[in-house]
Amino acid sequence: MPLTRENESDYWREPQPKCPHCDHVCRVSDNEWWDLYDTNEGSHEVSCPHCEKDFTVNVTCEFSFSTDRQPKPTPVSEGADSNG
Ligand SMILES: [Zn+2]
Repeated sequence: MPLTRENESDYWREPQPKCPHCDHVCRVSDNEWWDLYDTNEGSHEVSCPHCEKDFTVNVTCEFSFSTDRQPKPTPVSEGADSNG
């Protein structure tokens, strides 16, 4: 079902853009829409590969960061600052 007021949340924050005209999920990798990943936040005009109508994709970035166990730091030798 195309985008309506009732189902607009189905088109919101999807892992892949969904065409609001024909409900086709347009995979970024299939369409080589790498520009979408270049924008931190913002909107992009694209053409649906399925129905060939234009629509705007709003890009929302969600960063996630991970850290892992760190190597032990080299110990700093103490008592080197004797002052007189
Ligand atoms: Zn479409």
